Formats: sequence, structure tokens, C-alpha cells
Amino acid sequence: MRALLLWCAQNPWLSEHVPSWGFVRRAVKRFMPGEEFDSALKAAVDFKANRIGAVFTKLGENIKAMSEATAAVEHYEMVLTRAAEAGLEPEISIKPTQVGLDIDPDATFANLNRLAAAAARVKGFMWIDMEGSAYTDRTLDLYNRVHSRHPATGVCLQAYLYRTAADVHRMLPFKPAIRLVKGAYAEPADRAFPAKRDVDANYLALCALMLPDMNRGRLKLVLATHDVPLIERIARFADAIGMDRHALEVHMLYGIQSAHQSRLAAEGYGVKALIAYGDAWYAWYLRRLAERPANVVFVARQMFG
Ligand SMILES: Cc1cc2nc3c(=O)[nH]c(=O)nc-3n(C[C@H](O)[C@H](O)[C@H](O)COP(=O)(O)OP(=O)(O)OC[C@H]3O[C@@H](n4cnc5c(N)ncnc54)[C@H](O)[C@@H]3O)c2cc1C
Repeated sequence: MRALLLWCAQNPWLSEHVPSWGFVRRAVKRFMPGEEFDSALKAAVDFKANRIGAVFTKLGENIKAMSEATAAVEHYEMVLTRAAEAGLEPEISIKPTQVGLDIDPDATFANLNRLAAAAARVKGFMWIDMEGSAYTDRTLDLYNRVHSRHPATGVCLQAYLYRTAADVHRMLPFKPAIRLVKGAYAEPADRAFPAKRDVDANYLALCALMLPDMNRGRLKLVLATHDVPLIERIARFADAIGMDRHALEVHMLYGIQSAHQSRLAAEGYGVKALIAYGDAWYAWYLRRLAERPANVVFVARQMFG
């Protein structure tokens, strides 16, 4: 089921037609407050009352013309300004292929650099998403270059890739900010652990590798996962090395494990919700279904009203 859903995410015919189907549009609302930025901003302001921060991401990837990249950059500049005006600590999360990586790597660097500068001006933060493994080297190269100029930037690393521990070791001397996820793309067995239990074990091992450095102020690690038992195991590891477990920061997606987001924030953890919006939600939404194929039942229910 996961492989089928990830195949559907890449299928051009489906990506053109499915977004207009009403029952799918209704189902998507579970993971997005709306297609417009105003809906995302309102959700973020509401979250603030519960001590939950927000990271904004406008959906879109693999753009076909640099004019689309420029439009995305201008949009995110507006997002940073408006979120700061609303009293938020503005964080954004960008896919490199949304700002040009398939077309022009130098222009992509300029775009990310411009957004990192805009984030720094409002005391915000810019995250770089990690896409499929064909992009990993280029994304890390972009991150290293942007981060050397703008410290308030971070990059996502994926625990399902065999290479991730080596990437962490290479990045550690530069005080990186790392958002650790399990990984959402279809990857071959020679690059990524095929079995979920191995991905989970590697996630824990990577945290054990990074937390002592975080405790010494040498890196910022964010746990981007909805796996609550795994977060608890990592918190116990933090206790064991004498680190305050509430120094851990957890990021989850809007609409998933909402009760746990509130509970963790109330207990004193740093919690942020990644709020996605925009009309280019098809591939992103299919990856959410693939993460939990039981969600397909929810879509089917929308079909029957
Ligand atoms: C803030 C954030 C940023 C991310 N950025 C990236 C990125 O840049 N690149 C990338 O490859 N991946 C990214 N991801 C996705 C990530 O790789 C996983 O695919 C996703 O988080 C599901 O894995 P999990 O860690 O939640 O663990 P899982 O073991 O998959 O899930 C744990 C539990 O969480 C719940 N859950 C998980 N997913 C769903 C869902 N879709 N619907 C309903 N319940 C669910 C279920 O109860 C499940 O049992 C990001 C995820 C988050 C939270």
C-alpha cells in the first residue's frame, strides 16, 4: 500500500486530476487549515495560546520555471513579515526544488540565501526540507553554504538513509541545526532501510549520536516525528546523559497527534507544528497517506459523505 501510494504521488495524470475531486479536497482539510496563508497564520496564532510554535510551508515542489521560484521566494518574504507582525517567531520550511534546484543550482543558492537573510531580519529561522535521495548531496551542499552565512538555518536529515550517520559526522564541526525525520519518499533498498523497525532503530541511534553534542551546545537537534513512544525513549536517553529532557524540541505536522502536541508543550518541551498550505498539495498529501495507510479509509469515508 505504501509503495502504491508513493507511486500515485509521482503519477502525472493523477496529480492533474485528483486535486479537483471534492471528496479528496474534503479529506485534505484534516492536514491543512486551508489553502490560503491567512488560514495558516490564524492556526499559528491559535497554537501560540497553547505554547505551540509554528513553521510555515507553502506546498510546491519540482517547479518547471525560475519565475515560479521567484514567486515562492517573494511569498515567503511576505510570510516572514506577516508572521512577525502577528507576534510569532517566524519559521519557514522550504523544499530546494520549490526554489529552483531542478533548473539552476546557483539561482537556488541565491534564493535560499535571500530567504535566510529575510528570516534573520525578523529573528526567524529557515529550515531546508530534504527530498528524495537524488537530491541529498546537493541539498546538504546548499545548506552548508547558506548556513556558513546565516546561522539561523537548519536542514532535515532522514533516518531511513544508510548515509545519515556519516552526514551528521561531516556536519558536526559546523554547529548545524538538524531536523531529524524518518523519511517520506520511495527509496531503493541499497540506499534506505526497507524495514520500519530498522528506521526506528536508526532514528534512536542518530539521536544518541547527536544529543551529547547538543548538550554541549554544538548543535541544535529537532525531533520531527509523531512517534510518541520513540520521543519518550529519546527523552530517557537525555535524562541518562544528564541533559534536561525539556531542552528537546519536537516538530509535528498540523493535524497529527494534536493531543500529544498540546501535552508535550504543557510538560515544557519545545513544540512546533509544521503548517502546510497552498493548492499544490497532491504529492505531499499522498505521502501523508503512505505514512499511515489507514488514512485511506478516512478518504473513502469522505467519498460517501
Ligand atoms: C515537522 C516535520 C517535517 C518533515 N519534513 C520532512 C522532510 O523534509 N523530508 C522527509 O522525507 N520527510 C519529512 N517529514 C515526514 C517524515 O519523514 C515521516 O514520513 C513522517 O513524519 C511519519 O513518520 P513518523 O516519524 O511520524 O513515524 P511513524 O512511525 O510513521 O508514525 C508514528 C505514529 O504517528 C502517527 N502518524 C504518523 N504519520 C501519520 C499520518 N500521516 N497520519 C496520521 N497519523 C500519523 C501514527 O499514529 C503513527 O503510528 C517531516 C515530518 C515532520 C513531522
